[in-house]
Amino acid sequence: MHAIIAQHTGGPEVLEYTDAAPPQPGPGQLRFRVAATGVNFIETYQRQGIYPLPFPWTPGAEASGVVDAVGEGVTGFSVGDRIATAEGSSCYAEFALVDADQALPVPDALDLETAAALPLQGMTAHYLVTSSFPAGPDTTALVHAGAGGVGLLLIQLLKARGARVITTVSTPEKAELARGAGADLVAGYEDFTRQARGFTDGRGVDVVYDGVGRDTFDGSLASLRVRGTLVLFGAASGPVPPVDPQRLNSSGSLFLTRPTLGHHLLDAEERRWRSSEVFGAAAAGELTVRIGARYPLSRAADAHRDLAARRTTGKVLLVPDA
Ligand code: NDP
Repeated sequence: MHAIIAQHTGGPEVLEYTDAAPPQPGPGQLRFRVAATGVNFIETYQRQGIYPLPFPWTPGAEASGVVDAVGEGVTGFSVGDRIATAEGSSCYAEFALVDADQALPVPDALDLETAAALPLQGMTAHYLVTSSFPAGPDTTALVHAGAGGVGLLLIQLLKARGARVITTVSTPEKAELARGAGADLVAGYEDFTRQARGFTDGRGVDVVYDGVGRDTFDGSLASLRVRGTLVLFGAASGPVPPVDPQRLNSSGSLFLTRPTLGHHLLDAEERRWRSSEVFGAAAAGELTVRIGARYPLSRAADAHRDLAARRTTGKVLLVPDA
C-alpha cells in the first residue's frame, strides 16, 4: 500500500508518500481500506514535534472506510462494514487500524467522505457546547475561526441550541461562510472585543470558544462578562504563554478551561452519544458539513501547508490517489 511517512520532525516536506506494508490487525482491532482521511490541525503540531511522538511516524487519527480484516476477539463488526473514527492510528495511508471499540458505524444515509469529515471536529464541537460550557437560548458565545473545520460545525450546534453567536474570520469569503452557518455577527480579529461588547450592550459574552490561542487569548478574556468562561481548545496561532491565575480574578472572576477530545470520549456510551448526535444531525440534513478541500494522499504536505497558512475552510480531506 501507499502511506505518508515522516522520518523526523520538520516542515510539511517531511511528509513523504512511500510504499509501506499494510498493518495487521491485532486482537480487538479492525483494519479498514481508507476512503478518506481527515486532516486536523493537531497533525501540524505533531509534525513539528510540539507534541513529542516516536518517529518514523504516519499521521492521522480520523478516517472512514470499509472493514477488510478483523482481529481476534472482535464482535459487532465484520468485513464489509462501513466505519469511521476519530481515534484511529496512522490514517494517512491506504489501509489503517482502529480498536473496534473506537470504531463508529456509519449510517446508510451518510457518504464516506462526510463520515471522514465529522468524527474529530464534529465530536469536538459537540463536547464544547454540551460539556465545556453547556450553551442554550440564554447564551451569547464568541467563536474564533468560524469558517474553519471546528468553527463551522460549532456555530451550527450553538445556533441549534438557541444561542447567539459572534465569530471571527480573516477574509470576506470566510465571513460569508460563517454567516451561512448561522453566525449573528462576524468580526475581524483586530476589533472583536469591541464588537463583542457592543453586541451585548457592554456586558460581555458568556463564553468564548477559542481554538486560535496566542493571538486571541487576551482579547478573549477581555470579551467575557463577569463570571464568563473561556474555553481554550486549541492554538492555531501558537501556544498561549503561562497565565497568572490572578488575571482571572481581576478580569471578573472568570473561568478558564483547556479541554481535549480524548477526555470527552471516556467510554463506549459517551462515544456513542456524541457520534450518534453528530452523525444523526448530518444524516438528517440539520448539520451541514463543508468539505473545503480534497487532496490526493500523495499531496498531504500541501494540505498541511494550506491549513497552516489559513488558506482552507471547513474540512480538509485526503483521498487515495487515483
Ligand atoms: P481550522 O480549520 O479552524 O484552521 C485553523 C484556523 O485558525 C485557520 O483557518 C484560521 O482561520 C485560524 N487562525 C487564526 N490565526 C491563525 C494563525 N496564526 N495560523 C493559522 N491559523 C490561524 O482547524 P481545525 O478546525 O482543525 O482546528 C481548529 C482548532 O481547534 C485548532 O487549534 C485545533 O488544534 C483545535 N482542536 C482542538 C481539539 C480539542 O479537543 N482540544 C480537537 C480538534 C481541534 P481564519 O483565517 O479565519 O483566522
